[in-house]
Amino acid sequence: MFRRHPWIFAGSVERLAGRARPGDTVEVIAGKRVLAKAAWSPESQIRARVWSFDPDEIIDNGFFKRRVAAAVARRAALPELVGQQGLRLIHAESDGLPGVIADRYGDTVVLQLTSAGAEKWRAAIADALSAATGCARIYERSDSEVRGLEGLDPRTGWLRGEAPAGEIVIEEHAVTMAVDIVGGHKTGFYLDQRDNRRLLKELSADRRVLNCFCYTGGFSLQALAGGAAAVVSIDSSEPALAQARANLALNPQLDAGRAEWRGANVFDELRRLKTAGETFDLIVLDPPKFAPSASHAERAARAYKDINLLGCKLLNPGGLLMTYSCSGGIGLELFQKIVAGAALDSGRDARIVKRLQGAADHPVDLAFPEGEYLKGLLVQVS
Ligand code: SAH
Repeated sequence: MFRRHPWIFAGSVERLAGRARPGDTVEVIAGKRVLAKAAWSPESQIRARVWSFDPDEIIDNGFFKRRVAAAVARRAALPELVGQQGLRLIHAESDGLPGVIADRYGDTVVLQLTSAGAEKWRAAIADALSAATGCARIYERSDSEVRGLEGLDPRTGWLRGEAPAGEIVIEEHAVTMAVDIVGGHKTGFYLDQRDNRRLLKELSADRRVLNCFCYTGGFSLQALAGGAAAVVSIDSSEPALAQARANLALNPQLDAGRAEWRGANVFDELRRLKTAGETFDLIVLDPPKFAPSASHAERAARAYKDINLLGCKLLNPGGLLMTYSCSGGIGLELFQKIVAGAALDSGRDARIVKRLQGAADHPVDLAFPEGEYLKGLLVQVS
């Protein structure tokens, strides 16, 4: 609390003076001092989430208007984010709005609320987003599993405006991507990997690229745009692969003849590729969250080790492994150890040539290190 961390766990709450319903604003008091104003979450182990460390700040519609406008303004001040058609506008705790995610795709905003406090201020947050962006369309994707921990049911649908006539498309590094905000993962697209997809494009010329966990083809299409000799992409989700193929078709400038899509479990397919004697110059491993929390870390570590080991084995000499973990339960240090163990077991020399992270519209509040969920390594294998 004194370090301005925004979570108050159940175990550190002595008592609730008076009454509070889920999402109500409560004062956090130590001794006689008011430390913060926070949203009450009686069902969650995170019993309260701080809205403000200013004891005099009133939590009302105006508060959300100010916080949302500030988040939008921070992005407008970063040149690399200006003009991005796909942009995270609000990154929850790290933008001072616990439980609130907002992503912009063209002129549509997708809002995801995951805490009781965010839920209570839903209308105020939607109004603030309309005011700060001028977007008339806001779609709600409050269907994340974590809502269950707060005792909240899933909710999706148009919150402001209505569905556009055609599909929603964004341009990213000169590649067109359709975004399925209704049925896609998260709010429809993995905006956090934007910078890393550009890096892949820069690295891909004349290389044989393997993109594991390709989702709708974000990395795959950038590799093609960068002049890859071939791009093999693997995902176990048929809808994701169908969208990936459709996205390729939206980009006639790319050589579709160099792309191959495989519907498979990455763990099995990597073994099959090894047995078949296939090799690659550049491999992307961007798996889903194997460890949502620290309690899953051990099993997750084995899974990360497995794919990274196979990845190292499949690389040609001098090849590059672009490997990620988006698990909150696996820190950077542990992830690096896992990759080191994988490289060692593969019998290959390997060195980190770059550390990778989420894009600038996914900032990490220094008081909230948990916000740093995405970590990656670019590893060169001898
Ligand atoms: N790199 C992507 C995002 C990856 S999200 C991008 O930049 O857009 C993780 C993907 O892994 C999802 O599409 C999911 O369908 C897929 N997936 C999860 N488990 C898998 C498995 N065992 N084998 C293959 N794909 C898997």
